[in-house]
Amino acid sequence: MSITNLLENWSDFRQQHPSDDRPHREYKWAMSIDLDACTGCNACSVACYAENNLPVVGKEKFAHGHSHHWIRIERYWDNDGREFADQGAQFLPMLCQHCEAAPCETVCPVGATNHTADGLNSQVYNRCVGSRYCNANCPYKARYFNWYDYPTTDNVWPEPMNQQLNPDVTVRGKGVMEKCTFCVQRLTVAKSDARSEGRSVLDGEVQTACQQVCPTGAISFGNLVDPLAKVGKQWMTQQVELNKDKQAKDTAEEAAKLRGYRILEELRTYPSVMYLEQLRESAI
Ligand code: SF4
Ligand code: SF4
Repeated sequence: MSITNLLENWSDFRQQHPSDDRPHREYKWAMSIDLDACTGCNACSVACYAENNLPVVGKEKFAHGHSHHWIRIERYWDNDGREFADQGAQFLPMLCQHCEAAPCETVCPVGATNHTADGLNSQVYNRCVGSRYCNANCPYKARYFNWYDYPTTDNVWPEPMNQQLNPDVTVRGKGVMEKCTFCVQRLTVAKSDARSEGRSVLDGEVQTACQQVCPTGAISFGNLVDPLAKVGKQWMTQQVELNKDKQAKDTAEEAAKLRGYRILEELRTYPSVMYLEQLRESAI
C-alpha cells in the first residue's frame, strides 16, 4: 500500500470516527510557532538535544540517512528565479504535532504510544518493541528510531560530557522509538507543584526547552483549556480550532489576513501545533 493510500484511508476512517468525544478537563497542552519570526537558527533543536539527552549521530551516520533530532528545521526556498544568496528561504521547525487523533497510536501493536488526559501523545519506552509501525504511519515524520546503544557502543557522552545529562530524563537504549514529548518532565514538575498548592498550572509557569531558548520568541506553549493562556488567545485570534479539520474563518477578508494554520489538517489528525505565516507573493 502506498503512503498516499494509507493517508487517504486514515482520512476516511477519521471522518467516520471524529475525536470530539474526548473532552480535556484541566489541561490541553498546545503550541504555536510563528514562522515569520523564525530565523532558522536551530537553537531550539540544540536545546532539545540538551534537555532530552539526545545522542548526536554524527556526520557519518547522518550521511547514511540516520537522524535523531526531536525538532528539525525544514527549509523551503522561494522559487522565483532569484539566485542564492538573494533567494528567500523560509524555515519551519517540525516536531511531534501531538495529534488528538494520532495515526501512530492506532498502529502500535503493544500500546507503547498512547494519548494522555492532558493531550500529549506519549511514548512508553520500556514497552516499545521497536516495530516502527508508528514511524511508518506518522504523516509528519516526527518519530526517530534508536539504532544504537549510544552511551556505551558509541561513547557519545565521553567523560566529562556525561555530566551534562539531564537526570530528569531517561537515556533510551537501542531498539525503541523516540519523539518530542512537549518536555513532559517539565510539565510533570509544574503540575505537581501546582497541585501541592491547590491550584492549576499558571500560564507561562512552564516552558518547553525549545521555547525557552528561541531568540526571537517564535514559540509559544501553554494550556488551551485556560482562557487566559497566550497560546489559547493566539489560536482563537487566528480562528484555529482544535477539533476541526477545515478551519472556517468568519469572513473571506479575515481568511486572507489571518496567518494561523495547521499542517495536514485534512487528514483529521487534529494537531496541537499551530503555525503562523504570512502568505508571501512568491508563494502564490
Ligand atoms: S530557536 Fe526560534 S528562531 Fe531559531 S530555529 Fe528555533 S524557532 Fe526558529
Ligand atoms: S517541546 Fe521539548 S521535547 Fe518537544 S521539541 Fe521542544 S524541547 Fe524538544
